[in-house]
Amino acid sequence: MLDHYRREFTNKNIQFIFVDQKGVVQESDDEVFSVQTGSSIFELHPFFESLEGIFESPENEVDFYCVHLPLKENVFTVDLKIAKKEGGLLLIIYDLTKHYNTYQSVTQVRNESVIKTELTVIKNQELEERERFKNRFIQNFSHELRNPLTSIMAITNILEETKLDTEQSQMLQFLKASNANLKQLLEDILSISMIDTGKLDLVQKMFDLKQFFDLLEFTYKAKAKEKGLNFNADWDEKLPKFVEGDRLRIFQVVTNLLDNAIKYTETGTITFSLKLNQKRANRVSLRFQIKDSGIGIANENLEVIFESFNQLGAIGNTSSGSGLGLAIASGLLNLMESEIKVNSTVGQGSEFYFDLHLKFQLLTSPDAKKSSPKSHKKQELKKTEGPKSKLLLVEDDLQVQTTLFKILLGTGRFHIDVVYDGALVLQEVVSSNYDIIVMDVNLPNLSGDQITKLIREFPFNNVKTIPIIGITADGYQENIDKCRKAGMNKVLIKPFEKEDFLNSIYKILRNSKR
Ligand code: ADP
Repeated sequence: MLDHYRREFTNKNIQFIFVDQKGVVQESDDEVFSVQTGSSIFELHPFFESLEGIFESPENEVDFYCVHLPLKENVFTVDLKIAKKEGGLLLIIYDLTKHYNTYQSVTQVRNESVIKTELTVIKNQELEERERFKNRFIQNFSHELRNPLTSIMAITNILEETKLDTEQSQMLQFLKASNANLKQLLEDILSISMIDTGKLDLVQKMFDLKQFFDLLEFTYKAKAKEKGLNFNADWDEKLPKFVEGDRLRIFQVVTNLLDNAIKYTETGTITFSLKLNQKRANRVSLRFQIKDSGIGIANENLEVIFESFNQLGAIGNTSSGSGLGLAIASGLLNLMESEIKVNSTVGQGSEFYFDLHLKFQLLTSPDAKKSSPKSHKKQELKKTEGPKSKLLLVEDDLQVQTTLFKILLGTGRFHIDVVYDGALVLQEVVSSNYDIIVMDVNLPNLSGDQITKLIREFPFNNVKTIPIIGITADGYQENIDKCRKAGMNKVLIKPFEKEDFLNSIYKILRNSKR
């Protein structure tokens, strides 16, 4: 029975042809294609001319695979077995056209997909390399700018305390505003690079939401008024007073949006509202909304405005920014698992909003109360009274060294020694009894964190406990962590304001048990 089926299913694809020594077809079962008896097989297709050589070969059987045979009726792809039989040749032709075609298309698809994958890998590698280069460049570039900017800011502050006529005072105000802009730009560039490289960590702490809101209301009411705009602040009474989140980063997002609202509005009203979406257990969902009656944004631009360095050409004159504000806001919100949304109509205004899901606290937090900026200032000012402290300033950059020295000297609160080389610090601290060290992190010979480590390991108690404030141009968290780990009490990022610099020193001296 099986023989019968075998013939039914295999015969159709296998053809037998017998030819004599001259290649004349003696017999063919024509199962695959037709061949005339008495015709020459050599004329069927040039491939068969190779049969002549088989007679001389010592082999009795020869196999050929995947032979392409375009014949009159069709194009075949076949395997062939040729056997010497009865003084002639027996040709067994297996028609595998379908098989080879399928195989070929599968291979082609697979090859294409391999090539595509490889191309994507190459493209990704190139993009990653470009990204790495960009971030390295930004890091180095901002690092290089910090030292001169620290000096410029400090000298501006010193100048402000000298006698100036009206014109000079005005120029000084311009200088201060430009310094602030440049500092902001530097911070923005660094923020975006830290967000892009995943190096920005959120610091979740309980903070006073109402105070946060009031501060924004106060600041932006004044800014709006300066431009002749109305400012409405809408606080939802159902909101909790204390929430847990990264206050600084939320502040950064909201101020970027409020700054834009004012920047891109010439007349009308800016509205800042903070509403409760819902409260559940100890979690609260808040909606921040910033609405303006400004120039608006065309629909086709609603996505591109969130890309870094993207500014819309049409309003080039109005804009004084860097095109980073919205990219930073959206990057920060991403970290907070939120998303910024925008509705806008050209000529009528824009509305930016986002939701934050935060933990909240029912009771008033005593800790948060303590951090009120007003009470903080009073405490710091108090520290300026009392005997002079002995301070060692370690800084190799001559400009920064001079300006910091002048600031410190100007307070009348310190006896100051200055060294510029890391290697000299250790002999200084052993021979003099310092109350505090202010030290650049990036020093020649021995870096600030290495020196701090050595000081902390000293056998003498009066040396190993000297408070150390590090100053650095590298604002990356890794660097700050490295300095803190080495034992620095505080790390200040250049450029810093004079008040922050002095307050950090006063605070540490106040808390120091020396
Ligand atoms: P910029 O520093 O230019 O303000 P942003 O990233 O903050 O950079 O904003 C990107 C662009 O989006 C702006 O240049 C501006 O064209 C547009 N834009 C942002 N906010 C508003 C707004 N409230 N109204 C109109 N256009 C806006």
